[in-house]
Amino acid sequence: MDNHGQSIQQYTERRRLVLFPLPLQGHINPMIQLANILHDKGFNITIIHTKYSCPNLSNYPHFTLHLIPDGISASEVSTTELASVLKLLEDRCIGPFRDILSQLSSDDSIACIITDAIWYFTQEVADNLKIPRIVLRTSSVGSFLAYAAMPLLQDKGYLSMKDSEMDEPVVEFPPLKVRDIPRFETHDPERVNQYLVKIVEATKKASGIIFNTFKELEETELAKLGEEFTVPAFPIGPFHKYFSASSSSLWTQDRTSISWLDAQATKSVIYVSFGSVATMHEEKLNEVAWGLANSEQPFLWVVRPGLVHGSEWLEILSKEFLELISKRGYIVKWAPQQEVLSHPAIGGFWTHSGWNSTLESICEGVPMICSQFYGDQMVNSRYMNDTWKIGIKLEKGLERVEIETAIRKLMVGKEGEDVRRNIMSLKEKLDHSPKPGGSSYQSLDNLVDFITSFRTPV
Ligand code: UDP
Repeated sequence: MDNHGQSIQQYTERRRLVLFPLPLQGHINPMIQLANILHDKGFNITIIHTKYSCPNLSNYPHFTLHLIPDGISASEVSTTELASVLKLLEDRCIGPFRDILSQLSSDDSIACIITDAIWYFTQEVADNLKIPRIVLRTSSVGSFLAYAAMPLLQDKGYLSMKDSEMDEPVVEFPPLKVRDIPRFETHDPERVNQYLVKIVEATKKASGIIFNTFKELEETELAKLGEEFTVPAFPIGPFHKYFSASSSSLWTQDRTSISWLDAQATKSVIYVSFGSVATMHEEKLNEVAWGLANSEQPFLWVVRPGLVHGSEWLEILSKEFLELISKRGYIVKWAPQQEVLSHPAIGGFWTHSGWNSTLESICEGVPMICSQFYGDQMVNSRYMNDTWKIGIKLEKGLERVEIETAIRKLMVGKEGEDVRRNIMSLKEKLDHSPKPGGSSYQSLDNLVDFITSFRTPV
């Protein structure tokens, strides 16, 4: 009762958040960054992680960790397509996740769980335990909307169009062309499409969606999301503006990349990396290699072991190539990417258009050459080329003449200057976004208020 005889509602404080990342590098990094951001806002953080692909836990003494003994070995997944890996993860995680969360839920300080959008099964678990679930979507809003539109695009016949129709526009989904509709390398495309439907449906049932993006970049897409989804969205990115990704790296970052860059001229080097999951065949690696060599520009190239199925590392590259590039090129297994992109010697980034890489490049104002291997990368690269005009998309895939031409255009041509100007102006907007008065700053405040509203009356 207060002084006026009215009853004052008491609430239990709920300050614990339980986060569950998908164990792939491009999903772990943003989830760990988000954990740090929310920890900084005063929340206690519990992370549930698979034993498989778990980053170095000693980097996070401020988080409580629960490991899922999934029993998955690296060899078990190295020969399997991504869709099967996701299925394997789901099969091994669903029971242990339910058990751990139900144990944790006896402690009523949990405000909500935050899980990767791909862990769609966590919605049902959360519903059963009456715990709110917020989804983290680690890619762009545009690509999420494309996933949500897949059933419509299938009904309209876009998924069965002929090779000769690949450059037709998807009228329901500008700026996409038919070739940009998300696809995955799989022997069972129908199963993958059903999987996407489950992800989207579970996201619709969630209490909120967090996006690693910022309003100035995806204003149109966020407005469209608001029309199609009733779930509140929180675009609070880019997360790495707050916390770097290096402490959650699954591979050792080769720091000789930085000393090599130190010896190069300003804005002279093109950095090349295709992320943590993409794979290619041997002949494509050779196209990449000769495109780089023929461009005659200095380059720093990440060749991840496993990038080419069945190869150890560089043994498939010819002696002739390695000799030719020895003075101009540097090849590493894994780089400290954020630091590389911020190095003054970097003039361009040839990327696979993974969303973290895209944001990291925008943050440093580095113009891009855009490849795409599967899924959201196809959407991202189209946006970079057509909408934001911050990258030059390789339309023919990996083909040495197009690669050579694109590198020259970007590094020494007029088109490169335009693209550089565009990304610098986007970088300025991004720089402002996480600061007081900026859109991501405001959105993060909204998210904190939203989570704090999950309180229980006593
Ligand atoms: N990365 C890195 N070193 C490398 C290549 C990539 O640290 O040599 C990091 C990069 O900074 C990014 C993540 O790995 O944070 C890759 O995520 P992205 O979404 O770009 O691609 P994915 O690996 O999911 O395809």
